[in-house]
Amino acid sequence: MSIQMGTPVFQRSDADRPFPLVALMGRVTLPAMPDSQRTTLVDPFGRRIDYLRLSVTDRCDFRCVYCMAEQMEFAPKARVLSLEELAQVGEAFVDLGVRKIRLTGGEPLIRHNIMQLVDHLGALPGLDELVLTTNGSQLVRLASPLKSAGVKRINISLDSLQPRRFRRLTRTGHLDAVLAGIDSACAAGFERLRINAVILRGRNDDEVVDLVRFAEQRGIDIAFIEEMPLGRIEEHDRALSLARSDWLLEQLQEHYELTPEGDPGGSAGPARMYRIGGGVSRVGFISPHSNNFCHLCNRVRVTAEGRLLLCLGNEHSADLRAVLRSPGADAATLREHIIEALALKPERHHFDLDDEPQILRFMSATGG
Ligand code: SAM
Repeated sequence: MSIQMGTPVFQRSDADRPFPLVALMGRVTLPAMPDSQRTTLVDPFGRRIDYLRLSVTDRCDFRCVYCMAEQMEFAPKARVLSLEELAQVGEAFVDLGVRKIRLTGGEPLIRHNIMQLVDHLGALPGLDELVLTTNGSQLVRLASPLKSAGVKRINISLDSLQPRRFRRLTRTGHLDAVLAGIDSACAAGFERLRINAVILRGRNDDEVVDLVRFAEQRGIDIAFIEEMPLGRIEEHDRALSLARSDWLLEQLQEHYELTPEGDPGGSAGPARMYRIGGGVSRVGFISPHSNNFCHLCNRVRVTAEGRLLLCLGNEHSADLRAVLRSPGADAATLREHIIEALALKPERHHFDLDDEPQILRFMSATGG
């Protein structure tokens, strides 16, 4: 698929309609962007935005207790961006200087024909890094095609190494399938793999060392993420179950020599990273409660419904789907709307566990 600048390209299409054959064939030839339109995205606080997290579906095959309610209502398919529309969003951001796109969800790898989008984005000139966050359930099947399509790094969520506990935390997941998926990803030879773990007090906080050992044995990274108050859940009390990063770090320091590494905001994003005992693996901490990195924020998110979210912890947003589906809109129109929306990016979020969640969308709807 190639977008001709200045011609109407956005048309309503069914969410899962496969790309035309030309897109399947892959190698994209985008017309050069005129210098007059070339720009970069800078927000009102002077932060350069060069990272897009693109959610390809709000659906997931797991129902992790901190991420979703047990009974979820998902967006009707007609409201979800088609693969073509997702590609157009990705292209617009790359034209505007975005150098890294993370595909996420929901579970990105359960989206029908997802590899068509991955192949397309992976071939975009100007995009330095195409990366992915997944629960790992489909990696046995897809690790190798993802690597061939140009995906450089994958984050895989894994909160427990105990099958029954894993099942309870994910409600529907099978640990064996995820572990086999991680093995497939290790074998496929990505630049880097990282385990993401959310630790809840009294649920899996006794597995912190085991999870780090698991990562270390495979020569991959691991990051612990503090649970954020996104969406209303009744399964547990988030204030009581919060496992603060500093507490996890202390536990780990009893077992490992951890050497601080790099600056938060680099390729590890907002994670504070530590090298584990001089080996290749690193452990990181993403601490939206105990350590705020908003001043380093270089990212925006687009939900599966085409809502451009300027901040994970605020509702400032713009409706890109309306732009994509308005008659006569073209790539330049889309870029203009994105540039305008940047003015809405707030300085920071304030996560507060004492009250009802201020953000009612679940992480799965946001694109984690
Ligand atoms: N399905 C994929 C997965 O499981 O990685 C991608 C989407 S998931 C929403 C992305 C990440 O967000 C996962 O690592 C998950 O653990 C994390 N996550 C979900 N809800 C969260 C919450 N309320 N607080 C912190 N992290 C959360």
